[in-house]
Amino acid sequence: MFDVHSHFVPEGVLAWLKDNASRVNATWEQRAVGKEPFLTINQKWSFELKQAFYQADVYLEDQRKAGVAHTIVSPIPQLFLYDFPVELTVELSDLYNHELVAWTKANSDKLSGLATLPLNDPDAAARLLDEAMSNGLKGAIIGPGHQGVPLSDDHFAPLWEVANDKRAIIFIHPLLNEDPRIQRKMMPNLIGVPWETTICGLDLLLGGILDKYPKAKILLAHGGGFLPYQVGRLNQGYQMWPAVKSSLNDTPETYLKRFWYDNVLWHEDALGYLQKLVGTDRVLPGSDYPFDLKTWPPAPTSEASCRAFLGL
Ligand SMILES: [Zn+2]
Repeated sequence: MFDVHSHFVPEGVLAWLKDNASRVNATWEQRAVGKEPFLTINQKWSFELKQAFYQADVYLEDQRKAGVAHTIVSPIPQLFLYDFPVELTVELSDLYNHELVAWTKANSDKLSGLATLPLNDPDAAARLLDEAMSNGLKGAIIGPGHQGVPLSDDHFAPLWEVANDKRAIIFIHPLLNEDPRIQRKMMPNLIGVPWETTICGLDLLLGGILDKYPKAKILLAHGGGFLPYQVGRLNQGYQMWPAVKSSLNDTPETYLKRFWYDNVLWHEDALGYLQKLVGTDRVLPGSDYPFDLKTWPPAPTSEASCRAFLGL
């Protein structure tokens, strides 16, 4: 069984975080008895920093027990650091990527890795993606744009050029939605997270990115958010309005089949719908391990599709 959506913080990254806590406003807080301390970076998106996030033996033993044979391991979104000066983002991204290269190389039968990139500087992001892939990583995990600039904007063209040339996996991973209407009862995570993926996926689709950079393998988190469910509306808009079809050569439904999706959905009917819409070969097993809201172990899907996606 494979897992395409999993997170880890290598030891060297954690050490950097402790050394640079004041630069990134990192705090550790013991919130409840029996829980690990919660880590918060820059007052955003606190989470329980379980041992499985940073202890390689715990992480690998959990994979083994769950029957996961190969994992694509990603950095955690809390450490994308897009809102900091570029030098700082590059410094941590570079370290994170090198740490993941070393760890995945030492466990190459069990692990592949994705880089983190400084989206706050697309040229630097392109350079780091190129370097990371030359060192053996399979692509990168990135947030859904930066400071309101969507990923289809020409601003990000340098990154897409490299992703296309290198046939990179580009894993679009949401960040927390900051809409003031949903700042309670975990709503930023419950619906804000899939909403961010929905916005980003549709922007990439309508922006023609799938035609401009056809060799980049774009993976959408959490089953593509709400996007696949609105296929009828998208198709109808495509028929009605020139603005919808201006960058497209076919219906939105056809383009939805050109993304890949993880199956972190917790619901058989939802998963079945997605597989029927885009094809079973486009829906890959993921877990979001070791975050609280994980599907563990991941629901298995076709091994051949996973191998093709990974280029194994
Ligand atoms: Zn995740």
